[in-house]
Formats: sequence, C-alpha cells, structure tokens
Amino acid sequence: MVRVRLAPSPTGTLHIGTARTAVFNWLFARCSGGKFLLRIEDTDKERSKVEFTENILEGLQWLGLNWDEEPVLQSTRVEQHRQAIQQLLDAGLAYRCYASEDELTAMREAQMARKQAPRYDNRHRDLSAEQQAEFQAEGRLATVRFRIDDQRSIEWDDLVRGQMRWAGADLGGDMVIARRAPADQIGDPLYNLVVVCDDAAMDITHVIRGEDHIANTAKQLLLYEALGLKQPLFAHTPLILNQEGRKLSKRDGVTSVGDFRGMGYTADALANYMTLLGWSPPDGMGERFSLQQAAEVFGFERVNKAGARFDWDKLNWLNGQVLHELGSKELQNRLTPLWEEAGFAITGCTEDWCQQLCELIGPSLTLLADGVGQAKPFFVRPELQEDALKQLEVNGARDALAALLKILPEGPLTAEAAKPLLAQACEAAEVKKGVLMKSLRGALLGQLQGPDLIESWLLLHATGEDSARISRCLS
Ligand code: GLU
Repeated sequence: MVRVRLAPSPTGTLHIGTARTAVFNWLFARCSGGKFLLRIEDTDKERSKVEFTENILEGLQWLGLNWDEEPVLQSTRVEQHRQAIQQLLDAGLAYRCYASEDELTAMREAQMARKQAPRYDNRHRDLSAEQQAEFQAEGRLATVRFRIDDQRSIEWDDLVRGQMRWAGADLGGDMVIARRAPADQIGDPLYNLVVVCDDAAMDITHVIRGEDHIANTAKQLLLYEALGLKQPLFAHTPLILNQEGRKLSKRDGVTSVGDFRGMGYTADALANYMTLLGWSPPDGMGERFSLQQAAEVFGFERVNKAGARFDWDKLNWLNGQVLHELGSKELQNRLTPLWEEAGFAITGCTEDWCQQLCELIGPSLTLLADGVGQAKPFFVRPELQEDALKQLEVNGARDALAALLKILPEGPLTAEAAKPLLAQACEAAEVKKGVLMKSLRGALLGQLQGPDLIESWLLLHATGEDSARISRCLS
C-alpha cells in the first residue's frame, strides 16, 4: 500500500513550492490507490505558528488536495526522536561533540582561508573518557553528532532522476542530530533524524519532495541504515524557477497560495498549473485537466528533471478556461462575495439579473477579480470617459438618444423588442444606426468599449438605469 506524505513546516504561509510538492504526492497517492498523509513539522518552536498550520491546511483543502488520516504533529513525537538518538549513542553510531560555537567558527574560517569547503572536522569523534570528563567539568554543552564515513558512497534509484550517488565525504562531516544541551541530556532533535523517525513511524513508502532535499536524502539513507529502519523510495521533483531561471523565492513577490487566491486565481486553475510545473501530460490530453484526470495517468516517468519555469501567461490562460467552464450560476456564486466586498448594492438585484450579468461578462474574464471591475458599471453609474464625451458631440448623437429615451418602455425589455426601438430612434433623429449604437454605449457604460451592447442595455433597463444614464447625456 502506497503511503506518501507532505511535511510542511508551519513557519510561513503555504508556499507555491510546497503546494506543488503536495500536488505530486496527492496525484501519486490517488493514482496508486494509496494514502496521502500530512505531517506538520512544528519542532522549531520559535518560528512555528498555529496560524501558519491553519493557513497550510486551508490552502490544501482549497486546492482540493484532501488528505487521508489525522495530520501528525511532529512536536508530539519528540520522545521517540530522543529514543532514536539514544539508540544511536548506545550503538556508538553517534557521539557527543563539545565544540563551542566559537571553536566551530574558527575551524570554518581556517578552512576557508585554505580554500577548502567548510565542514566539521570530526574533532570530537573519538574522545577518550578522560577528555569527555574534562569538557563536562568545564560545564560545556554538547550536541549529538551522527558518524558519517567519508569513504561511504550512498546510492539510490530515484524515481525521477534515476541512479543517484553521493559521496559520504561531501556531506559536511559528522552530522548534528541534536542541538546543544548539558552533556547528560539530549538536546532538541534535528531535521534529518526527526524526518527519518517519523517517515518510518508513519510507514511512508515513497518520499516525494523538491530536489533541494537531495543532500538530505543521502544523510537520511545513512540514518535509516543505522537505526535499522526500512528505507522508502525517493522521488525528487524539479524546482520551480522564476522568469530569469533562478529558484522562485520570496523576492519574486507572489509565492504563497493565498496570494494567488487573493489575485482571483481559481483553485482548479492553480492546481492544474502546478501539475504542469514539472509534469508533462501524455499526448492528446491537452493542458487543461482536473486533478482527478491527471491522477488517472500520473507517473514519475513523465516528471521532468529540469527546473520548471513559472509561466504567468499559461496560468492566466488556464484560469480563463476554468472561469469560462464554470457556467453563469457558479460564476455568480463565486463573484457575489467579491461584489459584496466591493460594496456593490446587489441586494436590490434579482438572482436572474445577477446571473445574466455573469453570462455577459463571463467569457472575457481571466481572473475572478476581473469580474469586479467588469461588473462595476452595472452597479455603479460610471463617469463619462473622454471617448464617450466625444461621441456625444457627433452630429445627431444626442437627438438619437433623446428619441430613444422617449420610446423606452416602462416595463421589461427583451432583445427582440430592443432592436426595433433602436431603428425607430435612428429614423426619428435621422442618424445612422452606428451613431446611436456608439452613443448609447457611451451613455450607458461611460466608454466606447465593453461587453455586448444590447445585453448591457437590457441589464441596465431592468434596474431603471438606462433612462437615468441617457438623460444625463442630454442636459
Ligand atoms: N519540513 C521540510 C520542508 O518543509 C520537509 C521536507 C521533507 O519533505 O522531508 O522542507
């Protein structure tokens, strides 16, 4: 049974990179009939916040990435982590290192001065009992370090990247697995150790995460071995790159799922887009699909090794597609809260009217938020723009509008009834139809560009706004 997990650290809001990792985990779980689990890695007490956990869970839910079991809180498992460290100490696979921060800094500076890569020089690996007693008598604190044999070669068959090999000598020396603490205690357990314990305890079969974790995987494989735990398989997904081809970072502005949501992107489009960030759909599938459709054909053989460049045009295109597929009723459900937020007086409008408005503006939306700006002239009387003012000066424009105003029906208006009215007004004012059409558009919408004129007019007639807007152009 496939069991995968997302292991976010609640030290910030849900990042697009984490969400993309979640998508790949979810797709793999769903395509293999397995389980998608969550583990909240909240052991960094200072930086972890409950609000961030809530934001992450809410963001995943919004994207449709449902998980299968109660999320595991890493902080509840510290005792097990300490036991694992004790096990490694007892087996002689880990030891206490008494080196102070100053000593380690001096060591690194000396290495850099010799143009060597900084690494721990394993100086306390084989301390005698006397040396240890001496350090303890000095009251020194100790970290716990896990022995890493420089001669080791660590290999695994990565589901995305194929055969991987990492030299033990390139892992930076013996690895700290517990923070500094008095020598008779075990300090706070650290990331690599903790992840291995938890993945094993949760029976994780496949670890799917960003390629920035490759060096951690090498270290973690050594820990699995040392702790006698079964190793999962690994899949390292490509990083998301910005327009310049560098790793997408906070400096790129919009990086959290909430930002995209706030900008008016739909969950469907964002999830669809994230799937395309690093995965190529099979031929014939196209690029617009649901998570469920992707899950039916997902596999690591179609996950790319190269980084995935963020492409706003594609995201926008997908978002437009999703909005156009929604249908006016659903679009109305989604736009109503935004309209309310914008202070539009929607309470006076009927359901039908709102739905008709959605039908009118729907096809030209890229972002949901565009539906606010595009709906605004139907709720709020717009200022007359320069092009509209100019149009009203055209010969016969005001006469035609005046003629139309005279024959506007009191009751409801239909498209069939509207067209002859236009013809009648043109005849009365002796102007070409085009003049009246343009002038009416200017009068109703304040400018010469916008959605279908007749449909716009019908909406504004229904609220009685057409006569008011035409009248103001005549004075
Ligand atoms: N908490 C780690 C992170 O957010 C988890 C990495 C992993 O998946 O092991 O980067």
